[in-house]
Amino acid sequence: MTTKNITDEDWMRHAMQLAAKAEAAGEVPVGAVLVKDQQLIAEGWNQMISLHDPSAHAEMQAVRSAGQLLQNYRLIDCTLYVTLEPCSMCAGMLVHSRVKRLVYGASDYKTGAAGSIMDLVCHPQLNHQLEVTAGVLGEECAAMLSAFFKKRRVQQKQLKQQALLQVNVENKSENRDDDDAASSY
Ligand SMILES: [Zn+2]
Repeated sequence: MTTKNITDEDWMRHAMQLAAKAEAAGEVPVGAVLVKDQQLIAEGWNQMISLHDPSAHAEMQAVRSAGQLLQNYRLIDCTLYVTLEPCSMCAGMLVHSRVKRLVYGASDYKTGAAGSIMDLVCHPQLNHQLEVTAGVLGEECAAMLSAFFKKRRVQQKQLKQQALLQVNVENKSENRDDDDAASSY
């Protein structure tokens, strides 16, 4: 891939591939890439479950890795692409890191802190505001998330049914034991 003419959508597709990586590991599919001067600096995807780390959101992973690579805790002139609107933790972290621009895919109407339930990334009383572009491949990113949650609900239902079945089988075998006990008297 050349470094010329890479669009927001191209970067978002890359972030979606990372989201798929998260999904394959059983995590909620969210992916992020950090870009500077049209160059990929860092990648991140949800790893909260696998790392036992509630802060291991895709954006956090990408920004941490970018800081190490650039050897700087300020990510000046960088753009963060993420498939889902950042939460309040990540939005606050993006302000601290001085990322210049945020591009996100799907809106998060439950926890989104870049406009949905609050707007931390453009808050006038904070000392840094990001430029925001929302909804890049938004429908595709949202579809990926809803397909994941739908699949998970089905799996959870199946597990519940299996557990109930197991209980029934155990109950039946206990009853049979009782019968045996009764007949031996
Ligand atoms: Zn987050």
